[in-house]
Amino acid sequence: MTSPAAGNLYSRYMAARAVHSDHRAACAQCTDNSRCPVGKRLYDSFARLQDAYLTRQHQQRR
Ligand SMILES: [Zn+2]
Repeated sequence: MTSPAAGNLYSRYMAARAVHSDHRAACAQCTDNSRCPVGKRLYDSFARLQDAYLTRQHQQRR
């Protein structure tokens, strides 16, 4: 059973991932080892959403 809130979190997570990977592909300063300030902010919000999403998945499964 999936709640609307979980679906919303998943789409925010997917959107943040797409935004970050687009930036990563277009930005000359972002590499595997370092990120520009914008890339860091995008990565942080992606990581936070991924964390929240995976935590929720884990809690639901038991
Ligand atoms: Zn960048």
